Amino acid sequence: MQEVLVLGAGYAGLKTVRQLQKQSGDFHITLVDRNDYHYEATELHEVASGSQPKDKITFPIADVINKDKVTFLQDEVVKVDPKQQTVTVKNHGVLNYDYVVVSLGFCSETFGIPGAKENALQMVDIDTAENIHNHIIDMMKKYKETKDKNYLRLLICGAGFTGIELAGAFLDERERYAEIAGVKAEDIEVICVEAATRILPMFDDQLANYGVDLIKKLGVNLMLGSMIKEIKPGEVVYATSPEDTNYQSISAATIVWTTGVSGSPVMNESGFDQRRGRVVVKSDLRDPNYENVYIIGDVSAFMDPETDRPFPTTAQIATRMGAHVGKNLAHQLKGEATEEFSYKAAGTVASVGNTHGFGVVGKSSLKGYPASFMKKTIMNKSLVDMGGLKELLAKGRFDLYH
Ligand code: NAD
Repeated sequence: MQEVLVLGAGYAGLKTVRQLQKQSGDFHITLVDRNDYHYEATELHEVASGSQPKDKITFPIADVINKDKVTFLQDEVVKVDPKQQTVTVKNHGVLNYDYVVVSLGFCSETFGIPGAKENALQMVDIDTAENIHNHIIDMMKKYKETKDKNYLRLLICGAGFTGIELAGAFLDERERYAEIAGVKAEDIEVICVEAATRILPMFDDQLANYGVDLIKKLGVNLMLGSMIKEIKPGEVVYATSPEDTNYQSISAATIVWTTGVSGSPVMNESGFDQRRGRVVVKSDLRDPNYENVYIIGDVSAFMDPETDRPFPTTAQIATRMGAHVGKNLAHQLKGEATEEFSYKAAGTVASVGNTHGFGVVGKSSLKGYPASFMKKTIMNKSLVDMGGLKELLAKGRFDLYH
């Protein structure tokens, strides 16, 4: 019997398994993940702000796999050895494979900025997102004791999609934080410190300006053109131009790091030809050097022929890659040729809190409530994609505006 190893149960890996387990044939799948649940990484900001409990955005992996075909192994992947066709995991030793799908996801990119790892909170998984919420609650209580305004300041490093969505979620929860601190909602400051002077590069000027105006109007203090140089405990040090050597700083008791992501460090550890944890894959999503190694999701760089640059890593492309690899593996297992992957993004929508948003779907710009509605519809579609209708029902996600 042929053994297929799938590493990581995020959007890409879990979709691969769900696609492949439907096929008949003499093969077995082992799915490895450090957690026994799948989580929707695009919704981590809601757990970080406390607007959703973690079980709204997670479900058990065991619920969605076919146990006749798939074994789930809860463990941490340490290294892939594509020459030996083995994978080392932390607690169960060495696993052998005929085919491997590497879909190990993202980690936070600190660009080597001093103190970013030690002195800022990360938001990369369920535990770190929950940690942010617990931290904020503690800071609100500390304000009540000390009346030190730093405890009311929520500072986000980077105003990419992750930073903006997190800022929006914080604004939505201000009332609740304020009550704990014993202050008014407006006393809670939400600040985004961002290096670029023009953010949201994927949108045209009009839509990007709309996004900037919206988050400012809702109450975010958006500090554009502020390049973070160091994070000290409770303090962000930044420059206001490349020539600027006279750094300024801003203090805050809550500092969250969202300046971008890279692929899993396992990619470098395994000797793959990678940059920032991402491997440029062939048109059928395989590693250029190994016929039996697929690399998908946030550890993969798939070139966009239109721009000659890799597509940005998103849940949308990861899910599509997973479905495609499920099919390609079925072909390979039967001795057939693989198919080329092609991708056209259906759209990009950012939510700003529970009822606002902006983005592009097809050729149209969406703003305000329709954008927020679209984002929630996309998320529900994603939950059905990953967990099936059962999970959507279990999460009560019909009520789009919880
Ligand atoms: P990103 O790279 O898109 O944004 C990071 C931001 O941090 C940038 O604006 C950058 O200029 C800024 N930055 C970097 N270094 C800095 C420094 N030293 N000082 C100040 N600012 C600095 O990262 P992200 O927002 O985490 O997104 C990662 C990927 O996930 C992207 O492809 C994004 O589109 C995708 N994503 C999509 C959605 C959605 O579709 N709703 C939501 C979240 C993320």
